[in-house]
Amino acid sequence: MTGLLGIGILRECSGSEKRVALVPADVKKLKGNHVKVLVETGAGSCSFHPDSEYLDAGAEIVPTAGDVYSRADIISMLQKPSADDIMHIRSGQILVASFHPSKFPGLIDNIAKRNAVMYSMEILPRTAGTQSMDVLSSQSSASGYSAAIAGARFSPRFVPMLHTSSGAIRAASVLVIGAGVAGLMAVATMKRLGADVAAYDVRKAAEEEVRSLGADFIGLGVDAVGAGGYARDLTHGERMLEREILERAVQKSDIVICTAGVPGKTAPMMISREMVMKMKPGSVIVDTMADSGGNCELSRSDKVVDSGNVKIVGISNAHSCVPMDASSMHSVNVLSFISVLLDDHMNPADPERQEILNSCLVCRDGEIRFNSGKEGGNDS
Ligand code: NAD
Repeated sequence: MTGLLGIGILRECSGSEKRVALVPADVKKLKGNHVKVLVETGAGSCSFHPDSEYLDAGAEIVPTAGDVYSRADIISMLQKPSADDIMHIRSGQILVASFHPSKFPGLIDNIAKRNAVMYSMEILPRTAGTQSMDVLSSQSSASGYSAAIAGARFSPRFVPMLHTSSGAIRAASVLVIGAGVAGLMAVATMKRLGADVAAYDVRKAAEEEVRSLGADFIGLGVDAVGAGGYARDLTHGERMLEREILERAVQKSDIVICTAGVPGKTAPMMISREMVMKMKPGSVIVDTMADSGGNCELSRSDKVVDSGNVKIVGISNAHSCVPMDASSMHSVNVLSFISVLLDDHMNPADPERQEILNSCLVCRDGEIRFNSGKEGGNDS
């Protein structure tokens, strides 16, 4: 590489997004003979990383997103670019983010037309070799933790069992729906708070993981596992059975935390309005899937719906409830990805010759390289 390679970081914090893609500690690791990090002013303000920290780490602060787009060779971001930002994208510019290409084909088309190279980190196969770049795991851990804390906060009850001179309090009953990365973190957090926890999942493999955290497991009696070790869509008969099992479990619970998803699909709707109406007064549902349809029929993204007796808390960006740590975990993932993206001479590597890059390549040279077979990852 002749000259400095520019890596750009945007200010994305607005609304429920509070994170930044790369934190100053990792800027310091990147800054070297051949790299210049360009940070839009205020990029880290919502995750408590002021411009001064980026300056100390060796970054250059630039006034606008347009400056980042016009000078950076690689841009690492969290969210999809806006329509305005797409107009700034330069031919050959490399964009690294979680674009969810199957959900946003129009966006991918528009970016491909700008001749950019797009890598979508959330479709990386989840193998031992990509663990340090696994944004799904790092951000889902943050979501699961935040969902548990939100459940405790909105509940009118204590979570732990208490024996006091003013009486005995029983531990709150918590049901976690979906025992993937976020669900397991919610289980672990609720166990630490002292709740009586059960988790429900359709994958048999989840049982051992739930039990190892000291929680009860509720299964469907079948192993509804599909491509890459993820859950598959349930059949009509399985859905009927699920409804029966969940109806009982939901009614018994003080707090229900929903994290169930099927990659590339709308979240399965599992808690109907009728089920909510049968819940105990004061119960709380926290739905981290509100943005992709919701596991509960009444969930609304970033709203607390009060159904009378039950509060339904829909969280779209649950990881942003812990923006400092979620950003630093994301940043480690980005740093690790960049170590693959750049060759020994600090030139962008050829995705055709690099398996990891090829697996998450969305478009290049105006051509869309994503197909839904890339989504769903590998479980190893
Ligand atoms: P996810 O966000 O797609 O789904 C969350 C959970 O919802 C999953 O456990 C899924 O089984 C569950 N689910 C889907 N439909 C459901 C339904 N109708 N009822 C109840 N639960 C339902 O998944 P995730 O958390 O990103 O990942 C889970 C999978 O990824 C697992 O197979 C896990 O072992 C694997 N994984 C592998 C690695 C690795 O390094 N190999 C890393 C992380 C995760």
